[in-house]
Amino acid sequence: MNLPDTAALLYQATSRLNKTSDTPALDAELLLCAVCGIDRSAVTCDQSLVLTNRQRDFFSTLINRRAAGEPIAYLLQRKEFWSQELLVSPEVLIPRPETELLVEQALEHLPDQPCNVADLGTGSGAIALAIASERPNVQVTATDISQSALEVAMKNAVRLGVQNVTFRQGDWFTPLADQHYRLIVSNPPYVRVGDPRLEVGTLYEPVDALLSGYDGLDALRVICAAARRYLDHQGVLILEHACDQKIAVHELLSQGGFETIVCNTDLAGKPRVTWGRREK
Ligand code: GLN
Repeated sequence: MNLPDTAALLYQATSRLNKTSDTPALDAELLLCAVCGIDRSAVTCDQSLVLTNRQRDFFSTLINRRAAGEPIAYLLQRKEFWSQELLVSPEVLIPRPETELLVEQALEHLPDQPCNVADLGTGSGAIALAIASERPNVQVTATDISQSALEVAMKNAVRLGVQNVTFRQGDWFTPLADQHYRLIVSNPPYVRVGDPRLEVGTLYEPVDALLSGYDGLDALRVICAAARRYLDHQGVLILEHACDQKIAVHELLSQGGFETIVCNTDLAGKPRVTWGRREK
């Protein structure tokens, strides 16, 4: 078979990725574009593009890493969330599409007037930056215990030109000082011990951003217990959680003094985001 250069490379790479990826051809194209610094349309229109030896070696390294299971977002160092392109690195969780539900809920709860919002455990900054860019009159404080995660988030803020987010390092509420917030949002770690996603060799994301004790509820317990005193009257706490944690999260919010509690389902119809309002 006498295929032009990139067509042959893409064909071989796609067959290598068949076992690992649900989208092998797309992954191969995206990695080729990253290696050559070109758009996807350029690859599909011109398959006679010839790679230098260095580009060819780099492409083959990336395909091997992808074939071994490394997420495409880490290889590309990019992930799209809420129509914004975010930088991601293994210091941060890769933003998931279902987390956009949390952003939607946050925007629905925000009043038109300026107010304070906190995002606990911001990681790449995905949630904080989405809310801040949608509502320039809101002041968002984004916290994370990991300084290296915050560095990724701060780079994202600069790249996206978002100026109404302040980043602070520390555990959950510790960096919030004595301020009060209209809205507190969080996608904390909620995976339980023993979950197959945490197996060594398959885990590329930071374990601290996923794992949260034997039942996955350790972080949610801390947040639900302390949030009320950081909220304004009528302030709302919005949390992402696993689909089988709906009842437990309802219970934790109720124990934390939240009067109105509502759970919403994600696009797959699974309970995914619960909010609680401080009524008094
Ligand atoms: N949604 C992620 C997953 O299921 C977990 C994210 C989290 O723990 N916050 O892999």
